[in-house]
Amino acid sequence: MFSPSTCPECYSLQTSGVTCQEHFHTLLYWESEIPAYGDIHHLTVLCYHLQHPSLYSPEGLQSAQKLLVDFLVYGLSPAQARRQNKDIVDSGNRQIRITSRPGLRGSYSVPVHWTMTVADVVAAGKENYLTSVRAWAGSILRALQELPPYPVT
Ligand SMILES: [Zn+2]
Repeated sequence: MFSPSTCPECYSLQTSGVTCQEHFHTLLYWESEIPAYGDIHHLTVLCYHLQHPSLYSPEGLQSAQKLLVDFLVYGLSPAQARRQNKDIVDSGNRQIRITSRPGLRGSYSVPVHWTMTVADVVAAGKENYLTSVRAWAGSILRALQELPPYPVT
């Protein structure tokens, strides 16, 4: 028998027994079905990972937050963002590790109050995908802007 549980990372209630990762895979499946949906693939991936920060390394999480600002505030395209991040890596001459590894997982300094999660995007339906993902990204940006700043190292 299934008992509802809460996702330890994005705190969404998994009432139907479907995990966040399964919801995420549903979105990727929609993108494979409808080519135009691929236009916001970068936002979908970024949003999902920002709400599941342990998938990132601490550095990766900081880069991802910056990337969200680049996309939503500065209107950068994925190609522009890639070029910019390449510059950062090259100029610092160091390898930024984006994904988490044992003992080095990204997390926020305080619990974040998310108003929208991957489950909401799925619930809103395939036909609303583009609108939903943009709303999801905007809600994440607002939630992150309310966080206390990272300590400067
Ligand atoms: Zn989750």
